Amino acid sequence: MIRPSPLPEELDPGYFGRVMHINGFQSEKETVDTMEKMFGSESVQRRKRTRLELLSSIAGQSVEAFTRAHSTIPLRRAITTYLPDLPHGSPRFKAGFGHLEPERSGAYLCPACVSEDVMFHGFSYWRRDHQMLGQYSCPKHRTALHYVRDKKDFLQFPSMIVEESQAVPTAFADEALNNEFVTRFLDIASEMSVRPASVASTHVNFMIDQRMVDIGMRSWPGETAPCLIDVIQQSFPRNWLLMVSPGFSRENFVQRQFEFLYGRHTRRGERRISNYILALAVLFDSSEEALNALFKASEDFEKMKAATRHHNAKPRKPLGADRVDAEAA
Ligand SMILES: [Zn+2]
Repeated sequence: MIRPSPLPEELDPGYFGRVMHINGFQSEKETVDTMEKMFGSESVQRRKRTRLELLSSIAGQSVEAFTRAHSTIPLRRAITTYLPDLPHGSPRFKAGFGHLEPERSGAYLCPACVSEDVMFHGFSYWRRDHQMLGQYSCPKHRTALHYVRDKKDFLQFPSMIVEESQAVPTAFADEALNNEFVTRFLDIASEMSVRPASVASTHVNFMIDQRMVDIGMRSWPGETAPCLIDVIQQSFPRNWLLMVSPGFSRENFVQRQFEFLYGRHTRRGERRISNYILALAVLFDSSEEALNALFKASEDFEKMKAATRHHNAKPRKPLGADRVDAEAA
């Protein structure tokens, strides 16, 4: 069996398709069966290996390294209540796929990248960064991406389907491309896409609440301070926002407010990684600041807990007052 090396940012189902074609297999089943015959003996706990595990074996990488470099899991699981310390791709995570943000629909490609790949590699391949939440332009060529609706097309080379693909409307793609908040959103999402593990949502919620206190923003509509959801709505292009976070289309403002901010504490809500990134992109002045705060969130949360323990007080919400106490101590 030929085992091609995965290319930079090559998406896992696209890599699967390439393994299938390069070996002349006629179906997905034949490909999986052959991979299982080759690597099934490595399986543990008498269970079938997942497709990611099989692909990582083909690629000669650990499943964690392959997942981090080639799947959409690191972004979809970037902030979670479910085993946040578990590395992305860990076999222990199998039971927790319900805790992942759903993937976006369709398969996205850039015709200019396809042509360049064919010239350079002799074939084209599917890129993970083109599939990223909120991404509608090629980060390299800055032109509107094309898409097809059927994700089965990931099994084909992009050059085979570029003809039948549709372009994202240029006006829509350009408006997003020229918006600084969208740029910040995409920078934050890109960095989340390559992290080895999640950040606990409890810690991120604490950090966001604290940041809102610090900059005088409110989480609830009021007359004296800007409200997070209003700021988000004013900052991002309306149609782009509706694609990234469909909840914004709801009529009832208070209902939306509640779901946006407090939905994230529920199982259903925690899938909304998009809402977290929208909030981070408007709460901080740069993606670097937002990412620093995000990746320090757990450390800051533990410090706050230790400080409040020192004061013989239980952590409580809202936590602004606790941190003032902690800093004064
Ligand atoms: Zn491109």
